[in-house]
Amino acid sequence: MRIRFLTALAVAFFAAHNSLVAQHDVIDLVLPTDNDALFHGDGSEFYQYVDRDYHGEKSTPWEGGQYGFVRDPVQTAAGVVYTRFHEGIDIRCLHRDANGEPLDEVRAIAAGQVVYTSPVAGYSNYGKYIVIEHRWDGSPYFSLYGHLSKIDVQIGQKVERGQPIAVMGYTGTGINQPRAHLHLELNMIINDRFQAWYDRFYRNEPNHHGIYNGINLDGIDIARLYLELHKNPSLTIPEFLAGEETFYKVTVPRSGYFELPKNYPWMVQGDAERKGKSWEISFARSGVPLKIEPNDKKVSRAELTYVKPSPVDCSLLFRGEIAGRGTQAHLTEYGQGLLRLLTFPD
Ligand SMILES: [Zn+2]
Repeated sequence: MRIRFLTALAVAFFAAHNSLVAQHDVIDLVLPTDNDALFHGDGSEFYQYVDRDYHGEKSTPWEGGQYGFVRDPVQTAAGVVYTRFHEGIDIRCLHRDANGEPLDEVRAIAAGQVVYTSPVAGYSNYGKYIVIEHRWDGSPYFSLYGHLSKIDVQIGQKVERGQPIAVMGYTGTGINQPRAHLHLELNMIINDRFQAWYDRFYRNEPNHHGIYNGINLDGIDIARLYLELHKNPSLTIPEFLAGEETFYKVTVPRSGYFELPKNYPWMVQGDAERKGKSWEISFARSGVPLKIEPNDKKVSRAELTYVKPSPVDCSLLFRGEIAGRGTQAHLTEYGQGLLRLLTFPD
């Protein structure tokens, strides 16, 4: 009798506990091709190598296919610094026909809706690419599949997790048949009024991609996300991004239009209702925004208010937004322009 009572109590407890856990959407990602070597091996079987020419010394390091600052090494007094950022991961080809053409089927990494396809290879460095929107806990995220040879879905189409959407290829700049691979990103979106900002800053280049232009999409560390979800399937994106280090902070004037906190309300720290004079935004080294805090500092344009101390000049550490070192570090004109996108039109 007593045991039965305790069992009933335990069942009630776990039911309540489960309903608490179920408040979050589960991010159940599948890899987009047959290549699953991310979960075993040293990376050389999973990542597509890059062709490197370092002072005349040629090599093909697979490390260059990873996410992050993995390309264009530069020798500095503080050691070698990899100066070029790779916003996604390059997944190696497994299947080819007799002529060496890639055959790997490309699949949606999670359920979602196709929001963009770019079928003209020459319109982007991504070549032919697809963008799929996913909604997790109400926030939009965008998986991007680049360098495709063939696109099998249409804009507006709903797709299931693992559904075939394309065939791997080598479209886009700087890729050839031996280096055929899938470039995969998982992004947050910056501003749905991207076109107005683009028209201001890129007057002479047409934007073929609407709000799904790579400039308006910020790629998170998707390989680390796969690996951490493998260990902890209930991980959320805010929990995941809490593991990213803040490399710099920028204070921007308070604006009537600021979409980021609407899409990603969990980024806002402190009292979101407080009418401060500005916002201070924390960024990962990648430029991915991590945190937004109301602030009382009065600024007329974006101002760098913190940068992680380093012996290396900021122009080598970031993506062109910051130059200088120590107390001399500052936003570049390019950085100013990019930060305007956050609150455009202000
Ligand atoms: Zn890539």
